[in-house]
Amino acid sequence: MSEPLVVVENVRKVYRSGPREVVALRGVSFQAHPGELVAIRGRSGSGKTTLLNQIGGLDRPDTGRVVVAGHEVTAMGEDELLALRRDVIGFVFQTFGLIPVLSAAENVGVPMRLVRMPVEEREKRIRMLLALVGLEQHANQRPYELSGGQRQRVAIARALANRPRLLIADEPTAQLDSQTGRQIMQLLRALVRSEGVTALVATHDPGLITLADRVLEIADGMVRETAPAAP
Ligand code: ADP
Ligand code: MG
Repeated sequence: MSEPLVVVENVRKVYRSGPREVVALRGVSFQAHPGELVAIRGRSGSGKTTLLNQIGGLDRPDTGRVVVAGHEVTAMGEDELLALRRDVIGFVFQTFGLIPVLSAAENVGVPMRLVRMPVEEREKRIRMLLALVGLEQHANQRPYELSGGQRQRVAIARALANRPRLLIADEPTAQLDSQTGRQIMQLLRALVRSEGVTALVATHDPGLITLADRVLEIADGMVRETAPAAP
């Protein structure tokens, strides 16, 4: 088997607010390989966002180790983490996170500007990505002129802007109706295949789990592997 793209080893995360302690992750370990779509399933409050945040370098665990594409995320400083999130990881959020005053095309171009991609290459890649998510006709519309499903497509195109190795999607379909949610999940499924990225997708929608290669169930701060078809 290929080298794992994501290695999570014994990650523990405790939130402390005053005297109260919440053990969100109590020693989580798993690996994900290139080209895998891994669903992370669990009830609200089970630790899905916490886990994805430790992997994406948005937060730090108390103990344990995370490695993404050979980079030891848990040993990185802030500047290195910025570069990692810009160059190696693409993020998709439940609330899309688009910039309201920018068009769909401009939103997709934001990460490319951050790496100073030359204008011509940028324009070409924006067109390619918008076509990939089925929005070539909507390039000049602003987020408020798009449906929820279209907004999430723009966000997915933006996440792919700098050819990430890893896509992290935190409940990408939670704000969409079930049919649109399924279309978004099918799009992610197709992109993982065509672009060869690894995707970690948190969801508690059982209807979407069947599209995953693997399913990790998170409960009581621990993960265990379950079959995609399991109830
Ligand atoms: P999920 O994404 O599965 O809904 P979260 O990772 O958001 O779960 O939360 C896991 C647990 O950690 C919950 O009990 C939640 O209340 C707690 N938690 C999350 N973020 C914080 C925080 N910043 N401070 C304190 N507790 C938190
Ligand atoms: Mg969450």
